[in-house]
Formats: sequence, structure tokens, C-alpha cells
Amino acid sequence: MCFQLAEEERMVQKTARDFARKDIAAVADEANRDGVFREEIYRKLAELGFMGMTMPEEYGGVGFSNLSLTLTLEEISRVCPSTAIAVSVHNSLANYILYKWGSDSLKEKYLPRMTSGEAIGAYALTEPNAGSDVAAISMSAVKDGDDYVLNGSKIFISTGDKAGVIIVIARTNPTGRSRALTAFVVEPDFPGFSIGRVEHKMGMKASTTVELVFQDCRVPASNVIGEEGQGIQIALGSLDGGRIGIAAQSLGIAQTALDETVLFSRERVQFGKRIADFQATRWKIADMGTNLEAARLLVYRAARLRDSGHLCTKEASMAKLFASRIANEAVYDAMQIHGGVGYTEEFKIERFFRDARVLEIYEGTSEIQRIVISKKILEEYEQMYPA
Ligand SMILES: Cc1cc2nc3c(=O)[nH]c(=O)nc-3n(C[C@H](O)[C@H](O)[C@H](O)COP(=O)(O)OP(=O)(O)OC[C@H]3O[C@@H](n4cnc5c(N)ncnc54)[C@H](O)[C@@H]3O)c2cc1C
Repeated sequence: MCFQLAEEERMVQKTARDFARKDIAAVADEANRDGVFREEIYRKLAELGFMGMTMPEEYGGVGFSNLSLTLTLEEISRVCPSTAIAVSVHNSLANYILYKWGSDSLKEKYLPRMTSGEAIGAYALTEPNAGSDVAAISMSAVKDGDDYVLNGSKIFISTGDKAGVIIVIARTNPTGRSRALTAFVVEPDFPGFSIGRVEHKMGMKASTTVELVFQDCRVPASNVIGEEGQGIQIALGSLDGGRIGIAAQSLGIAQTALDETVLFSRERVQFGKRIADFQATRWKIADMGTNLEAARLLVYRAARLRDSGHLCTKEASMAKLFASRIANEAVYDAMQIHGGVGYTEEFKIERFFRDARVLEIYEGTSEIQRIVISKKILEEYEQMYPA
């Protein structure tokens, strides 16, 4: 890997790798089989600084780079992609939104709890009628005295039932699209908040995915993040980091697919030869390795751009689009090379095959990434060659 990592980033990568291989690996199979979210893992991750990765020390964070966060998510995902979901949402979305747009009092109140691991952060955007089309959000937030009253529901919310801090985007103006949304911090014990349907998913089973129900849920007006009407800006402005997080998760899955393929194909003998010696196997290994390195360059570049303070919307979308695709190709080929045993729970690739599918769906589907990328490319050409 030719990408130059700083000393600190190499250190973070090693710490995450060691923790994932020892502590997460010890519980990953069972947690994914039984669909159990292991809260103790997140407490340990917090002790290592991984729940406040890019936050400054004054709020209990460790002030690492976005690339360090990327490396951490990649290492965790090599062992348990489900575990990486909460780490990504918590750091890239919840912590980031509060830090970038929250008032000083919101930061002081919530960030130390979050960086210490006392409160896991969740991010609630999606609704039954507003998935890709964020501006169609209908959950209402009506000002009433010193509170806002929230009514409606959010679906598919990762860790929504485990979170102590939930960033919720709701509609403060019944008409209009982009300027009508506002971001709030909601705590699970606010009156009128409850957990609804719990999803039973194909993969990522050690991460919970739930519906959040708001029935006359009272949220103090002081819990508005940024300004009223700034919700869409906050929701979309945080997605670059979220998408780099999912791209990092994709790298971890693709790396494990390659590792398992190489190890298995060296052991398995058919027709008197290791299957690693068949050209059909080698071509798959070559493509997996090449795609993985190409994806890694895209993902690390996007994280580096974000660290340098540059807008990285196109690069983050490219990284997510490409890395999530090659991760799915890698698990598909890895299962093929494993033959029948790859389809059983005895082999790790069965779990990774199921986990990989959602990479192309959440944090913006691949179609939405293509819309973002093509829009940016067309804008660049408009600037270079005005009509
Ligand atoms: C396991 C899991 C965890 C999740 N976690 C969270 C979370 O923590 N917080 C949260 O807010 N959400 C979360 N989501 C929701 C997720 O982000 C959405 O599912 C995703 O954005 C897609 O929205 P949708 O499911 O409504 O699909 P839709 O938007 O209905 O899309 C359906 C299909 O139509 C395509 N499509 C839509 N619009 C266009 C267009 N303009 N052009 C071309 N094709 C288009 C899509 O690409 C897709 O193929 C999670 C989802 C899952 C499955």
C-alpha cells in the first residue's frame, strides 16, 4: 500500500487491528448469529478513544484525523462490519453534527457523554415516505412555548434503541422543501418518544435497526442544532463523512473476502491440485486485490481531503460507490471459490456475503451516489467550458 500514513495514523490502525482481532473477534460470531448488540464493546472502544475520534480534547475526544477514523472502521469491519455501523454513525454523523453546528451549551452537555461512551449517538433521517428524497421528510416539529412538539416516525435507524443521543431531522415549516427542516437532539427519555418496529435483517445482525416513534414528543427549543430551517444543510453536510465511513466498512469487508479466499484456495485440493493453482481462481484473486487497492486509494484520498478542510462531496461519493461495489463483487467471488462450504455458517464468508449487500443501499444508494457525482462533474465542466 503506497498511501503515506502519518505515524499517529499507523499507531491508530494497529491499535484498532489488535482490538478487533482480540476483543471483537471473541464475540462477533455469536453476536451476529443471535442478533445481539454488544454494548461492552463500545465501552471498550471508548476507552481507546474510538468514540471521540475526531473530537477535540476539551470535549473528551482524542483529536485524530478523519483518515484515522477511516482506518479504524476498516479494521473493525475486517472482523465485524455490524460493530462498525455504530462507530461510524456515532463519530461521522452524531459527534460531527453536534460539534460543527451545535451551540456551546449543546456541545458541553452532550459531547463529553458521547466521547466517553456513556451515550451512543444515532442519526434519524429516513421516514416511510422519505428515503433517498430527504426533502420529503414529513415528521412535524411545532413550536410550543419553550419546546418543540414532534410527531411522526423515523424508520431504519441504526442503534436507535441503544442510543443516548439521537439527531433527528424534522419539518418546522409545513410547506416548502429545503428551508423547512430543522435538526434536533433527542434523548430517549423525552416524553412521547418510543421504539417501534425492530427490523429483522439479512445481515449486519449485531447492529440493531429500529423505528423511532414520536407522539407529541416534547423537545426543548435549546436542543435545536444550528438554526431553525438549517436541517437540510446539516443532514446533507454531514453525509460526506458518513459516506467515507461506509466506504471504509466496504474496504474491511473486501479485505476479509480476499484473505479468506487466498487462505482457503491454498488448502483446498481438487483434481490433485490446490484450487489456488487453477487460472480461474487466480484471475479472481487478481481482480479482488486490484479492486481493493484502487478502492483504498479513493477512500483514503477522500478522508485526507476532508482532513485538509476541502469539500469532498464528489470524492466521498466516488469512494462509497466504488468501494461498496467491489466489496460485493469480492464476497460473491470469495463464496464461489469456497464452493459449497462457503454457503454454510461454518465459514466466515457466509456472514460477510450477507453483510455486504447493504453497503450499496444505506447512506445513499449507489444510484444517489451517481447522481451526486455526475452533478459535480457537470458543474466542473460548466466552469471549465462555459456554454
Ligand atoms: C441496515 C440499515 C441501516 C440504516 N440506518 C439508517 C440510519 O441510521 N439513519 C437513517 O436515517 N437511515 C438509515 N437507513 C436508511 C437508508 O439510508 C435508506 O434505506 C436509503 O437511503 C434508501 O432509502 P429507501 O430505502 O427509502 O429507498 P428509496 O429511496 O425508496 O429507493 C428505492 C430505489 O429507488 C432508487 N431511486 C430513488 N430515487 C432515485 C432517483 N432520483 N434516481 C434513480 N434511482 C432512484 C434507489 O436508488 C433505490 O434503488 C438504514 C437502512 C438500512 C437497510
